[in-house]
Amino acid sequence: MKIMPNRMDYGFEKYQEEFEKKAVDVLRSGWYIMGNELKSFEESFAAYTGAKHCVGLANGLDALWIGCRLLGIGAGDEVIVQGNTYIASVMGITMNQATPIFVEPDEYYQIDADKIEEKITDKTKAIMVVHLYGHVADMDKITALCKKYDLKLIEDCAQSHGAMYKGKMTGTFGDVGCFSFYPSKNLGAFGDAGAIVTNSDKLAEDTRVFRNYGSEKRYYNKVVGANSRLDEMQAGLLNVRLPHMDEINTERQKIAARYDAELKHPDIILPKQREHTITVWHQYVIRTKYREELIDYLSQNGIGTIIHYPIPPHLAEAYQGLGHKEGDFPITEEYANTVLSIPMYTGMKDEEQKYVIDVINEWKR
Ligand SMILES: *Cc1c(COP(=O)(O)O)cnc(C)c1O
Repeated sequence: MKIMPNRMDYGFEKYQEEFEKKAVDVLRSGWYIMGNELKSFEESFAAYTGAKHCVGLANGLDALWIGCRLLGIGAGDEVIVQGNTYIASVMGITMNQATPIFVEPDEYYQIDADKIEEKITDKTKAIMVVHLYGHVADMDKITALCKKYDLKLIEDCAQSHGAMYKGKMTGTFGDVGCFSFYPSKNLGAFGDAGAIVTNSDKLAEDTRVFRNYGSEKRYYNKVVGANSRLDEMQAGLLNVRLPHMDEINTERQKIAARYDAELKHPDIILPKQREHTITVWHQYVIRTKYREELIDYLSQNGIGTIIHYPIPPHLAEAYQGLGHKEGDFPITEEYANTVLSIPMYTGMKDEEQKYVIDVINEWKR
């Protein structure tokens, strides 16, 4: 059997008729940017998350850097972020000339809330929380710190659509929730797309102006903005997928529960879910000291895997200028050397999952 680490075709085929009808409707509408599909998606996604506003943007990175920019984060400011994130989180900070201050992750792969306070200085302006792999950070502790030190809170929810902490959705705890709808995300478009959600009228309005060249009224530019609009085709296709989100996340939770129950190997550590949270399993991330061996073995048996992520941002060539070196963040580095994402996707068949489980359990090293 051949099993890919991710399958986006299954997620399309499941709702194929609806997607195809919507695509044709958008094509025939004669209106392709900033129209009714976007308006409707923004209303529905705000309602889905429980935030007051949603503003569509071109991608998740834009949501992060524009969110930071409009919260006033800039040169000389420090933003606290977990060390083991995808590099886009960090770019959202550095594109504003601010400095990322890395914190080690906890056993759930999220920022270790007990290690944040020691990193707070006079320059700290914000905490950026990343709900990595669809798990959820320790939000009670983090929101308390933001309150105590008067810090902004940015949530990178690119992997956590629908994930909850004590019944409240990720993205709604802080000043701004930043989402990506890149095709492989839990709520995926068919191209690039992103959004911010916020309860602030001002931030929502500023983002609407900023994303369209800084203009509220056409050709009257208030600020130097960007072109970061979410187009009608992507918004329309997202309008098709959004009502199925509960179904999509429930399916991932079932796949994760079966892996939890049936994967048994002494050299493999399974992921853990924090109490009082609902995880949406963007990835199912195991760890093993013998990762290269396992990747080869799985690959010989037709099973594809991905490492999320092999090089932590503090060791990326792009961030040599920050002056970090190997050994600065041992837990982050250990995760980078041992994590492995095994197949997990909408439409995963029972026999596909059974095969993955059997092959892993039979791994002899
Ligand atoms: C995908 C992702 C992003 C960036 O989203 P794009 O739409 O690709 O720009 C940011 N942060 C995390 C954690 C992501 O997984």
